[in-house]
Amino acid sequence: MKYVITIDGPSGGGKSTLAKNLQKELKGFVLLDTGSYYRWATYLCLENGIGVESEKDVYDYVKDRLELDFVPYKGGQSKYAAKVLYDGKDVNKKLYTDKVTKNVSVVAKYKRLRQRVRKMQRDLAKYKNLIVAGRDIGTYVFPKAKIKFYLEPSIDARTRRRYKDHVREGRATSYKELKQNIAHRDHEDTTREHSPLKKPSNALVIDNTHLLPSQTLRLALKYIYEKEPAVKGVKDEVAEIVRKPKIYTTTNNS
Ligand code: C5P
Repeated sequence: MKYVITIDGPSGGGKSTLAKNLQKELKGFVLLDTGSYYRWATYLCLENGIGVESEKDVYDYVKDRLELDFVPYKGGQSKYAAKVLYDGKDVNKKLYTDKVTKNVSVVAKYKRLRQRVRKMQRDLAKYKNLIVAGRDIGTYVFPKAKIKFYLEPSIDARTRRRYKDHVREGRATSYKELKQNIAHRDHEDTTREHSPLKKPSNALVIDNTHLLPSQTLRLALKYIYEKEPAVKGVKDEVAEIVRKPKIYTTTNNS
């Protein structure tokens, strides 16, 4: 049996950090930071002159280009949750530009794209234990998952975290503008028609405004071991998804 642990919540709420810390602790779980799919779709459109406002154009262009692989960074030291590979290349740097971040919630609204991404995630869950972070994971993608988390720190706590990241990276930044951007994305994510961000049923909701990542991790682990003690036994699996190479033999006629 495969396990799925879902983590939802608004932007900058610590989902990726919790997911990464859980992955280190649990072993044998693949971490899917599902914003990567929507960011990658957005990046592809911006790079290739596809207008993000047209659902049809976006979908037609990206539908067969979404096969991402997820591999943990060795030692877990990166600021990113996991290595995200497309065609064998790490694309994380392309996913987190300001331009992609500004446009991603438009692309993430599109129903057919969301359905396709959902199918990909569900397919992966058939053969891998997953920790999945996103906005619609416990509600729309894996509504029957037994272990669901929802993180909801205050908007100021989330803005402070982003602000610190920007300062550390030497990016020009204004607290007020960052807060406005986060509020805007919250609005877009919670009010969209298809699979909006909301608290899933049967989830453990954690207001981590005043918690250190290690404290959030401890709460989450306690909950997991109480609900699914057998999770401790899945250590041996390889915690990454890399597409299987296509290998086949041809016949005389082909
Ligand atoms: O989590 P991250 O900031 O990378 O997500 C980028 C955007 O992708 C979010 O603002 C949201 O619009 C969209 N998203 C989504 N559903 C998910 C994950 C992300 O709509 N499961």
